Amino acid sequence: MRHLYEDAAFAPDWPDSHWVQGKALPELPPATGGLRADVAVIGAGYAGLNAALVLARDHGRSVVVLDAAQPGWGASGRNGGFCCLGGAKLSAAAIRRRTGDAGLTAWQRFERAAIDHVAGLLDAHAIDARQGPEGEALLAHSPAAFRALERQAAPGARLIPGGALAEHGLAGPGFHGAALASQGFPLDPMAYLLGLLAAAQAAGVRVAGQSPVTALVPAPGGWRLRLPAGEVTAAQVLVATNGYADETLPGWIGGRILPVLSTILVTRPLTAAERAAGFASPLMSYDTRELLHYFRHLPDGRFLFGMRGGISAAPAAMAATHARARARFRALFPAWAGVAVERQWSGLACLTGSLAPYVGPVPGAEGLFAAFGWHGNGVAAGSYGGAQVARLMAGAAADLPALVRQPPRRLPLPRLRRAGLALAYRLYGLTDGPLPPDPGPA
Ligand SMILES: Cc1cc2nc3c(=O)[nH]c(=O)nc-3n(C[C@H](O)[C@H](O)[C@H](O)COP(=O)(O)OP(=O)(O)OC[C@H]3O[C@@H](n4cnc5c(N)ncnc54)[C@H](O)[C@@H]3O)c2cc1C
Repeated sequence: MRHLYEDAAFAPDWPDSHWVQGKALPELPPATGGLRADVAVIGAGYAGLNAALVLARDHGRSVVVLDAAQPGWGASGRNGGFCCLGGAKLSAAAIRRRTGDAGLTAWQRFERAAIDHVAGLLDAHAIDARQGPEGEALLAHSPAAFRALERQAAPGARLIPGGALAEHGLAGPGFHGAALASQGFPLDPMAYLLGLLAAAQAAGVRVAGQSPVTALVPAPGGWRLRLPAGEVTAAQVLVATNGYADETLPGWIGGRILPVLSTILVTRPLTAAERAAGFASPLMSYDTRELLHYFRHLPDGRFLFGMRGGISAAPAAMAATHARARARFRALFPAWAGVAVERQWSGLACLTGSLAPYVGPVPGAEGLFAAFGWHGNGVAAGSYGGAQVARLMAGAAADLPALVRQPPRRLPLPRLRRAGLALAYRLYGLTDGPLPPDPGPA
């Protein structure tokens, strides 16, 4: 197996997220012996399980899903739970230049449809995962960033100048105004994942844990997937491994993806008085920094704070990244500098060489498909992308805007991706500017 990051990020003892606490997690046995299916899906996250559900339920396909660990062990079980717009790291102007006015409209419709898709799944399968009100707050990290929000805010967004943030519960030393949007909602990522898994299994999908695919080879009429204790033969294969991808499965994916670390901390429950003394808004929130911070209150009073960054998954480097996350949390939310952080964890999201997701066939490989590259916003986009690639695989009409149908470019000098990332993070740090001072742990 070939990964961009150290083995620690893929090992069973990589720290679990807050979301597994108190939940009965299935320990699905490995796939053994020789299995046959119409479709094999590699990766049991939102993309893979959504695809499997649609293929089995709507198109009558026999489907086997294989995960190297367990369903939701990747980013789908360890994210911030922002079910929101996003999926590409391109401005509207850049998407328009690449795909024209119609392409931009189609992409924006895809983003909204993705949120509706997840909401529909929660309703249809009675999945109790919603965690708060609809809408989100985008906080300007500088006066200049607020002026940019005023110029570029999405249609329908409501602008809140810096002086009015407090009356909306959005005040903080690092915030200079906000744009409020009405789309999206927060959810418990693992509750959604487990409900989705149950729905797929009820539709007849076979899901195997502890089943890393070690090789993918063309076979008569399809593909053979090698596993440590068996083999699966399938006419079609979907690669849905995103930031956890083995870069040789298939080789085409290697060098086209840039997995990136994201880190989250969760505090102990805040008292009502503590919450009122700080950032009290119930909205999912994030800031305008290139190296963005994202944060929200959880229903049990805990506060979740996340950030991108870090270029090594080695234990010492992760400890330093986690310390940096705590320092940034204290700097942006000084009212809670003394509140204990109960849990911290990290995971891998995925960028692509074209800064947009890819959903479609793997070029030159009959029967092989891929869906990946949600740019840190895969709760909605990854779910909907998975459902749409399933329709494509079944020969049905799929809602796939031009942006996600263009195979991503190879990144220049793929072996130097982490060095490039380190440089980019340093530059972003400079353009983002300094944070408010860290008051230190009280
Ligand atoms: C810390 C963090 C916070 C995030 N917060 C948000 C957020 O708030 N909102 C949002 O929209 N997005 C967020 N994201 C991104 C989002 O979680 C992902 O985009 C999304 O979950 C990706 O889903 P996926 O199904 O494509 O991949 P994943 O959920 O990563 O699943 C990939 C699976 O593939 C398996 N796998 C890999 N290789 C093999 C192999 N060879 N054989 C078998 N299985 C294999 C892995 O074990 C893994 O389970 C966050 C990501 C991280 C890391």
